[in-house]
Amino acid sequence: MIRAIIKTSLIDWDGKITTVLFYDKCNFMCPFCQNWDLILNPEKYPVIEWHQIAQNLKKRKGWVDGVVLSGGEPLVYKKDVFELCQKVKDLGLAVKLDTNGAYPEIIQELINKKLIDYVAMDVKAPLDERYNIAAGKKINIDNIKRSIEKLMSNQVEYEFRTTCVPGIIDENTVHAIGKVLKGAKKWALQVFVPDNAYKEEYRKKLGTDYIPSLEKFQTIAKKYVSNVILRGKT
Ligand code: SF4
Repeated sequence: MIRAIIKTSLIDWDGKITTVLFYDKCNFMCPFCQNWDLILNPEKYPVIEWHQIAQNLKKRKGWVDGVVLSGGEPLVYKKDVFELCQKVKDLGLAVKLDTNGAYPEIIQELINKKLIDYVAMDVKAPLDERYNIAAGKKINIDNIKRSIEKLMSNQVEYEFRTTCVPGIIDENTVHAIGKVLKGAKKWALQVFVPDNAYKEEYRKKLGTDYIPSLEKFQTIAKKYVSNVILRGKT
């Protein structure tokens, strides 16, 4: 279910003005998740129905370009996502999907049905046992690999994004992820915001060397992907 909305956002789809919708479930439980309260305590947040979303989109007609499906993990709600994408398309708007990449077949189906215009997929760690630490549970890493391959086959516009969480991402892990993403269209390295992290041990204040380390990560990442951006750096 959708339980949170940002009616107008300038930062959730580069170059576009969007409305962002947040689904309330996730199949991961990342220790650095920012939206953990929505996932663990969804009943605290009222359900937002389609008619409310449509009313908002109609009000903003002409200056909102599209809708971002975020969360949580939207693809946990496969049927809802297909219906919602179709309704958004019927309003003449574009759709961006934010996903953790755990459902490659659903991504493919959405692409085949032309229901999504852009996918932003998290690549949280190198594709080995370190991924389980980043995801907060043992996950099927093969699904992550398959989602990466699908996006890199260029059937839809996409980006990969890695939140640079201290303790998970360092220079070696950027190299390891880079090898997997070699030749990708775009890779966003995102600044980690520790204040509201799910697990206490990730809520530590970032050191003064944090931003310089991100710049080093960007230099390393550019060896593999020509378009690497730092997102969230002020
Ligand atoms: S995949 Fe995203 S929404 Fe799900 S737990 Fe991880 S950070 Fe939170």
